[in-house]
Amino acid sequence: MFDFSSLPSASSASALLQQIPESSMVPQSQPSVSLNVIPDEDPQRAVETADEPEDDYSGLMEDGLGAEDGDGDDFIDGERDDAGVTGANIQDRFALPHWLSVAFKARLEEANNRGGDGLPKLYSVQKTFWFPQQSTYFLLRKHSVTSQDLYNPRFFLWDPECLVVGGIGCPKCGVKLNRHGHASRPRRFVGLNETFWIIGYRYRCKECVNTSGKKTVTFRSWDAKIIEKLPVDLALEFPAQLSHRSGITLSAFHFMRSCFQNGMGAKQFSDSLRVQHLRRHDERHLQYLHAIQARQGISNWKDQTYAVFLPFEDHSPLGLHGFVPSSQWLRDIYDDFIEKHEMDFNQHTAMLSGEICALDHSHKVNLASCLTILQFLIVFCFVLKDHSRNHESSW
Ligand SMILES: [Zn+2]
Repeated sequence: MFDFSSLPSASSASALLQQIPESSMVPQSQPSVSLNVIPDEDPQRAVETADEPEDDYSGLMEDGLGAEDGDGDDFIDGERDDAGVTGANIQDRFALPHWLSVAFKARLEEANNRGGDGLPKLYSVQKTFWFPQQSTYFLLRKHSVTSQDLYNPRFFLWDPECLVVGGIGCPKCGVKLNRHGHASRPRRFVGLNETFWIIGYRYRCKECVNTSGKKTVTFRSWDAKIIEKLPVDLALEFPAQLSHRSGITLSAFHFMRSCFQNGMGAKQFSDSLRVQHLRRHDERHLQYLHAIQARQGISNWKDQTYAVFLPFEDHSPLGLHGFVPSSQWLRDIYDDFIEKHEMDFNQHTAMLSGEICALDHSHKVNLASCLTILQFLIVFCFVLKDHSRNHESSW
């Protein structure tokens, strides 16, 4: 064992230093040794180039997770033939997992329980479009818990027809639409860290004729053409930007717009969404494990076992079927939004004042005092001349 008491104290060490003769403290001359720290340049070595696209900042990064949702009502809007069986194969292919199907049917039954005013209790009594949702903590206090209980899907009920006085006109002919049953499956849309589901309805036009010559044209309540027909204050309650089969919450979509405007790419945003969704899933997993551990004693006594908490993207009947959109999906829905608003952007640009007419920051022109076209042209030519002179010097 090392004896620390044999070490000199700070004061005794300085005393020892004072006893050393000065001659021994003079540095002795050492033979010079040359060390090559930086190797010579090898002209044949591979050179890193900056040709990789900026978006491709990580080759290890995944891009999205899971598969897009199927749509049992996957018909061209307004051309559904109720007598047809077009959607049968699609429904089989994209069957809802059992835990989601049970939750969907329960909410649907609740939504169809309406008062004399035709409104679901959710609208008339609770005054909300969102079904209330239990928190995970209280779900874990149940007598027996399964991991599927914690998936806990949150539903949004969208039946605007009963809220619009006078009903909704057909997008094609303007005739009042009638409710024609509910959409056969909920519509999934993703948020910043969890997934939501829309329960929708079909609205039928009794005048329009579909391609097979029958008067069976219907529109889904989340159809963009239906939402355009609604009063603005009601339309703004719709919480999602939908693609053909999926969707994203408006809060996540507008956050994505801000990210794009501030230099974040679609791939980076998709990766961030994936991380947030996986983190939320892992939190539920952790809560599940702690709850099981807390009831370990009584579980042993009852010889009770618990199922494994399945991964986020598990597509087995008991799995979560998690989905996070890919970067291409995000690009497409962003481009679609921009293209739809192209006229608005052009109109806004045309209405800007002349102060924004400057060619760069150092040549702003106040056109407020320009009263004639001639004066405007003179000032504009001056700006062009000054601008080109400035850039010639920098080129
Ligand atoms: Zn019609």
